Amino acid sequence: MAFKSSYLQRVYDGLVERNGEQKEFLQAAYEVLESLEPVVAQNPKLEEEGIIERIVEPERIIMFRVSWLDDNGKVQVNRGYRVQFNSAIGPYKGGLRLHPSVNLSVIKFLGFEQIFKNSLTGLPIGGGKGGSDFDPKGKSDREIMRFCQSFMTELSKHIGADTDVPAGDIGVGGREIGYLYGQYKRLRNEFTGVLTGKGLTYGGSLARTEATGYGLCYYTEEMLKCMKNESFKGKTVVISGSGNVAIYANQKATQLGGKVVAMSDSNGYIYDPNGINLDVVKQIKEVERGRIKEYVDRVSGAEYHEGCRNIWTVKCDIALPCATQNELDEDGAKALIANGVMAVAEGANMPSTPEAVTLFQSKGILFAPAKASNAGGVATSALEMSQNSERLHWSFDEVDGKLHDIMVNIFHACDDAAKKYGCEGNLVAGANIAGFEKVADAMIAQGVAY
Ligand code: NDP
Repeated sequence: MAFKSSYLQRVYDGLVERNGEQKEFLQAAYEVLESLEPVVAQNPKLEEEGIIERIVEPERIIMFRVSWLDDNGKVQVNRGYRVQFNSAIGPYKGGLRLHPSVNLSVIKFLGFEQIFKNSLTGLPIGGGKGGSDFDPKGKSDREIMRFCQSFMTELSKHIGADTDVPAGDIGVGGREIGYLYGQYKRLRNEFTGVLTGKGLTYGGSLARTEATGYGLCYYTEEMLKCMKNESFKGKTVVISGSGNVAIYANQKATQLGGKVVAMSDSNGYIYDPNGINLDVVKQIKEVERGRIKEYVDRVSGAEYHEGCRNIWTVKCDIALPCATQNELDEDGAKALIANGVMAVAEGANMPSTPEAVTLFQSKGILFAPAKASNAGGVATSALEMSQNSERLHWSFDEVDGKLHDIMVNIFHACDDAAKKYGCEGNLVAGANIAGFEKVADAMIAQGVAY
């Protein structure tokens, strides 16, 4: 892996030396730095001001013990994280992930991506991310509550409505945000917008639940229209995952005229040639917290296949990976291309491996990178922060309308940046560059020792 710029090479080599074991973080950093080659070449000030070496280093990393009591009264211990990556353009903002695969590398990769994603929204939010290796699967509500309370007892010392505003991510939905918010309020005696994704009765925003999935489809629709004179109408769609992002991506893709035929969880995928009945999926995943395979017991004509990775062998026009990082590899990309896929848009964070992305781009498949196409969630979180500051509630249509406009603007910011730096059509480069420029300007303006 070699950079043309000796400056970028030096910074990346330093990162590898100090963070050699953090493979997800290095993967994310490499992708961004690679896109910045033309920007660094044209702007010597970036090296003079040490912007690249500063932007790859988190402003602060907090790691802590989370001890909690299970239902048998036994002490359990997990590790908690909050990475406050960059506050140049606003308070740190980014989700909390609860999943056994969470480690410092995963949280740093997510926090790093979040800097550029948040910048792309056009809203004043910096980048951060957090979570724990706690596994919510199979835990009782009371265990989840005790874990969240213990986690927040430490986290509350480091966050605040104008400092750092966490939200949900994998394993953190409305239930967990409620427990976390209750504990923050108890400890601080403050009713402030310190978390987003809150319930509607205590400061949440309408359309936040739907926002990432809806936003993904708004971005994809604009990309299809502007780059291929196409739309969702009449298209077959495959969506991996069956969590928050996947469910609302399905809903919006269907509303826009697409037919979603496959969804998955980490065990396997369902295929329904008649179009997936989303009410059934919502009942299983949102109400019963069950497994996706239960779908085939309730809907005739549907099939269940063990193993989630083979979902990409299902023939489709549009693929929306919405589960987790590196879930769509080179083999998956080859299968999609062989079946004539037209567009791939990322709902999850970094779901496509670098090899898969290269393959899509070399074959002229439209490819929407996560930090642009899934930015609707955090954008709507920032709208929730605005409503909390104003002590007001906006209507669903008002929030959804703003989300739509933000996603259309993000697409054009990516497209324009790619054109400006001679890589027209490459939305990966466009997203990285457009997100980077604003943050770099703010960092330069604020001086070195800020
Ligand atoms: P959820 O916890 O609601 O759902 C996650 C889904 O992905 C589940 O179907 C889960 O299956 C599956 N999944 C998780 N880990 C794996 C794995 N290792 N292998 C295969 N499948 C897996 O999370 P979200 O829908 O909120 O998040 C999905 C993705 O979208 C993540 O990458 C997240 O960072 C990203 N994202 C989320 C935003 C949001 O607003 N929620 C905003 C922007 C990005 P199972 O139940 O079997 O674990």
